[in-house]
Amino acid sequence: MSILERHFDNRDDLVSYVKQLAPWAEGNASEIRGGRLECEKRISSLDAVRYGKTRNYGNGSVSMLSPFIHHGVITLNEVRNYVIQGNDSHKSIESFIRELGWRDFWARFAENNEYFLWNDVEHYKTGYASDHYQEKLPEDILEGDTGVACIDGFISELLKTGYVHNHARMYIASYIVHFRGIKWQVGARWFLSHLLDGDIASNNFSWQWIASTFSNKPYIFNLENVHKFFNGIVNTTPSKNSVLNASYQTLQKRLFPNLEIQDG
Ligand SMILES: Cc1cc2nc3c(=O)[nH]c(=O)nc-3n(C[C@H](O)[C@H](O)[C@H](O)COP(=O)(O)OP(=O)(O)OC[C@H]3O[C@@H](n4cnc5c(N)ncnc54)[C@H](O)[C@@H]3O)c2cc1C
Repeated sequence: MSILERHFDNRDDLVSYVKQLAPWAEGNASEIRGGRLECEKRISSLDAVRYGKTRNYGNGSVSMLSPFIHHGVITLNEVRNYVIQGNDSHKSIESFIRELGWRDFWARFAENNEYFLWNDVEHYKTGYASDHYQEKLPEDILEGDTGVACIDGFISELLKTGYVHNHARMYIASYIVHFRGIKWQVGARWFLSHLLDGDIASNNFSWQWIASTFSNKPYIFNLENVHKFFNGIVNTTPSKNSVLNASYQTLQKRLFPNLEIQDG
C-alpha cells in the first residue's frame, strides 16, 4: 500500500495531487479551506448572540463550522465551551447551543437506531404511502437546471462549494420530496455525495424530518418565504419560480390532495 503525500508547497499542488488520486471526481475543488487555523478563524469571528436573530437568513451570522466538526478538526464540546466562555449571558446564546445539541442528538439517535438511517422512522403524513415516491433523482435536479430559479441557485452552491445554508437545505429537500415526489433516501444520498459536512445522522434524519417520516407534518415552503430570507442571494423573481409562487393553503391542497379528502 502506498503512503499518501501529506506536505505540499501550496494549495494548488494539493488540489492536483487529489485530482490524480480521484480522476473520476468532477468539477473543481471547493473554495472552502480546511485545517485547524481556518477553523480557529471561523470560531473567533462567530457572533453567537447575533446568530439567534439571524440564523434563518441567507446572509445571517452562521458559523460554517460543520465541515470542521464533521472532519474532527474541532469537537462539539470545544465549540460549546468557546462560545460559553465568550458570553456572560447564556440566554443570549441559547439558540446556537441548541443547534449543537441537535447534531449531538441525531448522532446519539443513530447510534441506537442504525436501521432508521435508511428506513422510514414512521409513515409519511402526506396522504401518500412510501411507494408513491420515485426512486431516482432526475437529471434536471442533479444538474441544478430545474427551471425553478431559486432552487437552481441553491443547487449550484451545493455543487460548487459543498456547503449550503441550513434553510436552503430545507428548501431543496422539500422541493425534491414534496414538489417532485421523490423518496427522501434518494435526496439524502445525493446530499452526502456533495456536502463537505456530509454526516449520515444529521443529514438523513433531517431529510426524514422534512419528508414527515420523522415529524408530525411535511415541511413545505413558498416563494414569499424564500424572498424574505434570501432576497438578493438567489433569484426570487415570481415568473422564474412560478411553481413556488402560491399561498401555503394553495400549496397544501396541490401537493397533498389526499389529505383534503381525509379531512373532508
Ligand atoms: C436536508 C438537510 C440535510 C443536512 N445535512 C447535514 C449534514 O450532512 N451534516 C451536518 O453537519 N448537518 C446537516 N444538516 C444540518 C444543518 O443544515 C447544518 O449542520 C448546518 O447548516 C451547517 O452549517 P453551519 O456550520 O454554518 O451551522 P450553524 O447554523 O452555524 O450551527 C452550528 C453547528 O450546529 C450544528 N447544527 C446546526 N443546525 C443543525 C441542524 N439543523 N441539525 C443538526 N446539527 C445542526 C452543526 O454542527 C453546525 O456546524 C442538514 C440539514 C438539512 C435540513
